[in-house]
Amino acid sequence: MAGRGIVFADVSAARRPERKAEMNVSLDKLRNIGIMAHIDAGKTTSTERILYYAKRIHRAGDVDSGNTVTDWMMEEQRRGITITAAAVSFAWRDCEINLIDTPGHVDFTVEVERSLCVLDGAVTVLCGVGGVEAQTETVWRQADKYHVPRLCFVNKLDRVGADFENVVGGIRDRLGMSTLVLQMPIGREKNFSGVIDLVTMTAYEFGDDSRPGDPVPVPIPEALREEAEARHEQLLEAVAEQVDAVGEKYISEIPVSTDELKAGIRQVVVGVKGTAVLCGSALKYKGIQLLMNAVCDYLPSPLDLPPHPAQTVEGDEIVECAPVRDAPLAALAFKIASDRYDELTYVRVYSGVLRSSRRVYNPRKDKMENVSRLYRMYANRRDENLKEAGPGEIVGVVGFQHTTTGDTLCDKKKPLLLEGLQFPQTVIDMAIEPRSSGDKDRFEAALKRLAWEDPTFETRIDRETGQLLISGMGELHLEVLRHRMLEDFSVDVNVGKPRVAYKETIARAVSVKEEFIRQVGNRGLYAIVHMTVEPKPLSGRVDFVSEAQSAGVDRRYLAAAKRGAIEAARGGGGRSGYPVIDVLIRLTHAEQHPADSNELAFESAAMEGFHRAMEESARRHGPLLLEPVMALDVTVPEDYLGDVIADLNGRRATIEGVDTRGGVKVVSAQVPLAEMFGYATTLRSLTQGRGTHTLEPCAYRKAPQKDHERFIV
Ligand code: GDP
Repeated sequence: MAGRGIVFADVSAARRPERKAEMNVSLDKLRNIGIMAHIDAGKTTSTERILYYAKRIHRAGDVDSGNTVTDWMMEEQRRGITITAAAVSFAWRDCEINLIDTPGHVDFTVEVERSLCVLDGAVTVLCGVGGVEAQTETVWRQADKYHVPRLCFVNKLDRVGADFENVVGGIRDRLGMSTLVLQMPIGREKNFSGVIDLVTMTAYEFGDDSRPGDPVPVPIPEALREEAEARHEQLLEAVAEQVDAVGEKYISEIPVSTDELKAGIRQVVVGVKGTAVLCGSALKYKGIQLLMNAVCDYLPSPLDLPPHPAQTVEGDEIVECAPVRDAPLAALAFKIASDRYDELTYVRVYSGVLRSSRRVYNPRKDKMENVSRLYRMYANRRDENLKEAGPGEIVGVVGFQHTTTGDTLCDKKKPLLLEGLQFPQTVIDMAIEPRSSGDKDRFEAALKRLAWEDPTFETRIDRETGQLLISGMGELHLEVLRHRMLEDFSVDVNVGKPRVAYKETIARAVSVKEEFIRQVGNRGLYAIVHMTVEPKPLSGRVDFVSEAQSAGVDRRYLAAAKRGAIEAARGGGGRSGYPVIDVLIRLTHAEQHPADSNELAFESAAMEGFHRAMEESARRHGPLLLEPVMALDVTVPEDYLGDVIADLNGRRATIEGVDTRGGVKVVSAQVPLAEMFGYATTLRSLTQGRGTHTLEPCAYRKAPQKDHERFIV
């Protein structure tokens, strides 16, 4: 990896803080955190500074010269954006911190989601000038979904136009979260030099802008004393409102100690009743250490959170995986990273202990997996060889053969499935082929590997043209995958134009009976299934329930029927050849033969049954083609607003609102993806380069009639 032009600091054993090969930090001192932000808010710079102060690197990297640790992929270096979530472990005070880097671009939503699902807390970095931006809202909503406790770091206070108060107002009003303001800045813009800690009422100066240094406690500047006292009072009041122990003292005018106030803040943050706000300037080495102290003080350990739910494989019961060592293993594979040489699976342990050189069970794949080696991670470098990883730990594993993102690893005798990730549907397709036919084998191997790493990346064959299509979350997503083919797998490819990934669904429920009875040589194949396929609008899913257990049919056959039906839906089981979504498949009855039944027969019966149900529904109620609809935010100076809206109206957009933010207009709309190709160029010319936009998938809706005619045969 060193050849990728990244300056890795030499973290020699002598420089590293003393650590042992097993985790022996107590669980309450463990923090699994992520940093979330709108692109350009300063997430990479903050991460870099944190790693510097945590002594994980000994020269602070710089985003602008492309040598940071977490942005390790070539692609990211090239584009200057963070795509791949890399995990880094380090010590801070008496805490052990696992930091998962989350990407800022919405095309990589799944990366954000999968890190959120294994995190216990997060830091949201906001730009002191831009404040709450479109993607801040997106990642905030995602964090809400997973109920992740958050701190906010208002960055870039050194910049002209930075306004801390304004950003705090944005968090409250636009993100709708109550705020506990823990600091106030000393000095504005280029004179920003320190902060007043409103919890302890201590002022800190940070020193030189261009060099790292420790915050130096100083007396609170006289000119700011009154304001600081008023703000301390506001903080106390805000905590008193939410925490009874503090509230009672506050009302009775009994002094609240610093420790009590801290405990109160922690309770509010951990319970996601509010967010604590800090500030600084990552670039100018200001505020980072205090932010890390706040991570230790206010973000939860694995012990502070409710146990993670899981489902037993036998019997479908819900069980809780509490963070205890003395329990059956429950671990989630949340990311697979591969390069030309090796495959590394990032795993979070919820219960029990994952041990090196042991075997674990993957129930979804029904395979035993070998834990050949366990690593604590330093970005993409394997740092320390571990013997074991206990509850709450996030580690890298080498040795897995079958495990993919979202799989559970457990004890064979106690199989269970952790509640994991929900993957969004792909919205865009692109034809792809190797430039040279001699590369065909490597091309196929590379595709397989990329799809394995990234569950939102799919491949399928175009029914009409026979071309291979790759599908993803946006133009940038596919573009990045194409580049990785070249950089990581040395396969040059030709690609077609990106085009909309339509889906199909069913208009009304249809029931079918399918018999799959054949004679092959002197053996028979026998399966009978009765199934109902019904609409499940706007779910984006293909769900399957088996209500046929009572018929005394072998469980393996029922599982085979499920595989067959879901495969048929994914593979384009409808009239258009596009994948089928928004359906619930009920297996209502099944019959087996004492000698001739097997899994293949049930898989085939369910597949054909599904096809027939789709056919039948299309014949009776008409086929239903769905198109991806995107949530669009366009930011423009007021002068161009009319032109931008007129243009959107010509694109079948539904305008949802126009806001004023910091002197510019923000248009929110929903618009079909089919109308949005080349929008960046149009917007640039409409606004003389002054408009910006963000686009993210939001739903699948019925496509226009002309598309039905085009795609449905
Ligand atoms: P990311 O996209 O959120 O990872 O943001 P980066 O860390 O890549 O930062 C984006 C740009 O903002 C880079 O040019 C940084 O040098 C710059 N930047 C980051 N933090 C600060 C800061 O505190 N002050 C100023 N003035 N610029 C910053």
